[in-house]
Formats: sequence, structure tokens, C-alpha cells
Amino acid sequence: MTRHYNFCAGPAALPAPVLERARDELLDYQGRGLSVMEMSHRSPEFVAIAKQAEADLRELLAVPDDYRVLFLQGGASLQFSMVPMNLLGNGGSANFLYTGIWGKKALAEAKKLGFATHLAGSSEASRHTEAPQRADIELAADAAYLHYTANETIGGLEFDYVPGDEEGGLHRDDGKVVPLVCDLSSSILSGPLDVSKFGVIYAGAQKNIGPAGLTLVLVRDDLLDRRCERIPGLFEYRAMAEAGSMINTPPTFAWYLAGLVFQWLKRDIGGLEAMDAINSRKAAKLYAAIDGSGLFSNPIALRNRSRMNVPFVLADERLDKPFLAEAEEAGLLNLKGHRSVGGMRASLYNAVPEAAVDALIDFMADFEKRRG
Ligand SMILES: *Cc1c(COP(=O)(O)O)cnc(C)c1O
Repeated sequence: MTRHYNFCAGPAALPAPVLERARDELLDYQGRGLSVMEMSHRSPEFVAIAKQAEADLRELLAVPDDYRVLFLQGGASLQFSMVPMNLLGNGGSANFLYTGIWGKKALAEAKKLGFATHLAGSSEASRHTEAPQRADIELAADAAYLHYTANETIGGLEFDYVPGDEEGGLHRDDGKVVPLVCDLSSSILSGPLDVSKFGVIYAGAQKNIGPAGLTLVLVRDDLLDRRCERIPGLFEYRAMAEAGSMINTPPTFAWYLAGLVFQWLKRDIGGLEAMDAINSRKAAKLYAAIDGSGLFSNPIALRNRSRMNVPFVLADERLDKPFLAEAEEAGLLNLKGHRSVGGMRASLYNAVPEAAVDALIDFMADFEKRRG
């Protein structure tokens, strides 16, 4: 068996020790005589798995006690609708920072539901190569929350700061604190995070958490009672929090695998500080190789270069196809850029080992020597 290096943007690489453990436990989970997939979500065995996963996540991110942790379905994209439905019941507008494709989709969904929206900041003038600075953010007078995308997975633009100016949010002109809502799908768990700076955090699992089918939401207690009246029951943060994310059948196997990833981060990696250092090293190496080459380039402002998703283009587009074909031949998978932007993209999530980045850099240098 050979496991190639997988640079896919999502569903993404999973840590080999996690897959091995899942394999070992697949048919007979810890002597219970059945698979986790076949268990009742209400069984003591699964409830223990679910609780342990939440406890480990809380420990990794040092989640304060006044935040609920929800394990939901629907992907990050469903949060584009669930966030406004849960937070705009008392009126006010949804405010957005627009730094790429995902943030744009979030804004469009809120608008489609008929909510008032306001663009509070944008990187459009720089063609999404540089994030707005704190001083450029202009909230609406009736802002109910500010939504932003910490790391734009497609464009490869990552905020270098949390755009809040105090615990949980930003000040509006009238002095009210506007909670910060963050789509952290592609950078959660890549390093330590001060959760107290946010009102709501959400992330689809398939990048840094686990397999597809699970969505993680962290929501501060005081935001649980701002929902709209006609919200579907399954979309209500409060109802989900009170039911332990089990109003209906949750994605049990994905939840279990996420739990194994949290344990891997704690035990094998040594926590998020250690993960942070590894991720910085991986990204720094690859950007240095790109910047030092005459064939490859990346347009993002230095302060906003994503550590998780590194897009790059070749000076001659005609080399794209041979580059991808030869990369695959060399066991370097999924380097093709998003269909909306083209070029290449190497996603360097937690489970992508440093050796994968080294192999990619060697391949790129060799390719440039032969074809550049
Ligand atoms: C992948 C991604 C999404 C979409 O996630 P789904 O789970 O497929 O809905 C949204 N936002 C960001 C930042 C992403 O990286």
C-alpha cells in the first residue's frame, strides 16, 4: 500500500494514525461487537465518544465556559443561512467583510433570506490580495453582527489579525458591541485561537477537523436568544445546544473521527502551539520556494498569505497541464487550483506532513529546471 501526498483543499488529508485507529476499531469498537457506524447515537458508548470529542476540543482551543459547542450537519454553507436566522430576530443588519468567494456567498445567502445586509469592508480594490485594516472597517449604525472569513480557502488570503476591538466584537458608533462571527472552515485548529474574541465561530469539518458531513459551531450563550420566530427547528442554535446536538440523528461516524483527530492533535502533535510552529514552517518553506523561482508566483500581500492554502501560477499557462500530470506521477495529488480561478493550489492543512511540503518543493525545483 502507498499513501501519496494529498494537497486537496477539501475533503482534505487526514492524519494516518487517525485512519489506522479507525481501521482497527472499524468492525468491533473496543470489544462492543459492532462498529461505531452501527451504534445508536443515544447509546452510552456513542454518548461517551461525543462527550470526549467535545471535551478534547474545549481543551485544545481553551473554549470559555459560556460557549456552546455544536456538532451539526449541512456544511459551512448552511451556516451562511443559519447565522442570520439565529442572530437577526431582534432586527438590525448583517455586516460583512468581503475578502473572497466564501465571504461573498455568505453575504448572498443573508440577502436572499430578506435580511438587511451591509458591506463593512472589502479587499476587492486589491483584487483580494490584501485584507482590510481595522481602520477601514465601517459598521452600519444598526449592525447586529460582523461576519468575516478568517482564511479564504480559494484565494489564499488569511487575516493577520482578529478584526474585533474588544471581548467578543467591535464597537458600533453608539457604543454598542457588535459580535464577531467567523467562518474558520479552513484554518480552525491550525494554531491557538482566542475564542473569547468571537460571538460565533463555525467550520466545515473536511479541512482541519475530520471527514465531510460534520460542521462545528461555537456560539456564546448570550447569542442563543436572538433567533427569528419562523426558523426551522433543526437550525436553532439554542435547541441544538439543549439537545446536545442530537435533536435528530447526528453524523456519528464523522463525529467519532473528529474526536480521533482532536486526540491526535493533543497526544501526537502536542497541542495547538506545536501545530502552529509546524504550520508556519511548512508555509514559509513553500512561499520561499515560490518567491525564489522564476516560474512560480503568488500575488497575495505578505501579511495576508494563507498558511493553509497556497495558490500559485506558472509563468506560462501551457505548462499547467504537464505540471499537474507530472506531479501526480510523482505522488503529489490534488494541486489543481479551484475551478473558478485556475492555476495551482497546495493546501497545507494540519494532516499534511512537512515531508509532503519538502517533496513538493523538490518537485517544483526539478520541474522548473527541466521546463521553466
Ligand atoms: C470549504 C469552505 C466552505 C464551504 O464548506 P461546505 O462544508 O462545503 O459548505 C465555506 N467557507 C470556507 C472558508 C471554506 O473553506
